[in-house]
Amino acid sequence: MSNTPKTAIIIGGGIAGCSTAYALATRGIKVTLFERHAEVASEASGNPQAMLYPRISGEDAASQFALDSYLYSLEFFKTLKLNPADFNVCGMLQLGFNPRELARIQKVAAQSHAEDVLKYVDSDEASSLAGIDLTHDALYFPKAAWVNPQQLCHHLTAHENISVKTLNNVSNILKNNDLLEIYSEDILIEKADVAIIANANDAQNLGLNLYLKTQAVRGQVSILETTDISQKIKSIICSDGYLSPEDNGEHSLGATFSVDNMDDRLDEEDHLANLFKLKSFSLPLHENLKNNIKGGRVSFRCTSFDYFPLVGELLDNSLLKAKPPRPNAQPNSLPWVKGLYINVAHGSRGFTSAPFCAELLAQVICQEPLTMNVELACLLNPNRFALRKIGLKRLAKMFPSSTPAKIS
Ligand SMILES: Cc1cc2nc3c(=O)[nH]c(=O)nc-3n(C[C@H](O)[C@H](O)[C@H](O)COP(=O)(O)OP(=O)(O)OC[C@H]3O[C@@H](n4cnc5c(N)ncnc54)[C@H](O)[C@@H]3O)c2cc1C
Repeated sequence: MSNTPKTAIIIGGGIAGCSTAYALATRGIKVTLFERHAEVASEASGNPQAMLYPRISGEDAASQFALDSYLYSLEFFKTLKLNPADFNVCGMLQLGFNPRELARIQKVAAQSHAEDVLKYVDSDEASSLAGIDLTHDALYFPKAAWVNPQQLCHHLTAHENISVKTLNNVSNILKNNDLLEIYSEDILIEKADVAIIANANDAQNLGLNLYLKTQAVRGQVSILETTDISQKIKSIICSDGYLSPEDNGEHSLGATFSVDNMDDRLDEEDHLANLFKLKSFSLPLHENLKNNIKGGRVSFRCTSFDYFPLVGELLDNSLLKAKPPRPNAQPNSLPWVKGLYINVAHGSRGFTSAPFCAELLAQVICQEPLTMNVELACLLNPNRFALRKIGLKRLAKMFPSSTPAKIS
């Protein structure tokens, strides 16, 4: 008998929801995706351009996750055959713009990475790759790219097995016998074999007792009109911010980070903070672009306290607290809400991490052999904070599903 469910519900139409929908739909599962706005990619996933690059520092798990998800997602996007105007493999330069960053990029360059993944370049080579004069040495990622988020999300959800229901605000999820039911204003709107929560910071507002330890991080991106000089920029340039090559006469310059400002209106000071980042690329470039801000966009990242996404099957947190398992309990004896999964907390790199995690989730749901390193998958366990809170540190590191991993 096949282990594949027949139907799935997804809550949230950002990159996490859309890529999870696609991963399930390509396995023959009928997916209904609910989005509260009129369009998919309307919140964090709605910037004009998303940069696809990793930030790595050493051989730690976070760097491994960043690199693996970046390489996976670039290959995945290539298979989608997106319109070339919406997906541009332009490469990316990470500048050694201060002593700490220079030491980091030198350390990364000394690790054994293939040259087509990353390489150290001096300021002359960096300038020639960028198309403008740069004064810093850099780490160059030749495969890095930018993608148009809205076109990407529309493309992913155009699959024949996906039905998108926009202007639908999900207020509740209930487990009823073997099915997951979702409600809007107390009205049952859909039921399915499995449900996936992919609504970022609003995961806590679905009537469930979840302990996710996520927080909203405000970000503002500035949109700049190109100049004759800036039009020559060929690759993404990055210091503690990023500048994209032009798209339709515009650059994206980003982004700010704030955990104590939840205002969704554009802020002039944030534009100035973004412009200030340009100074670390090149003072003449800052001078050239500083009067060219023509707009911007504010949205909110969803970040977990350890910066790893939350991906996998959920435990019933009320039962966990009411009857804590023994420290040596086996995973199959825990109070799973079978069929209820989550894919959230993609922080600042959702366009690389979410598709990677969507593939993991589809493999978990369909009980397929894993392609992700199992140790990395365990770090994503969405129950880790709840289990740690009741002292079950060993279980917090377990595979994120009631069904053990199959290794390929
Ligand atoms: C300024 C800024 C710049 C960024 N730049 C980059 C970048 O260059 N590269 C990169 O990889 N990442 C970047 N990021 C991060 C990236 O945007 C996020 O990681 C990613 O968009 C998260 O996707 P998501 O699907 O988890 O969340 P979201 O895109 O926020 O999607 C969640 C969706 O759920 C919907 N929803 C919520 N509640 C409900 C409900 N109850 N019912 C129905 N629908 C609901 C929302 O309307 C929303 O559409 C940036 C973020 C910011 C803020």
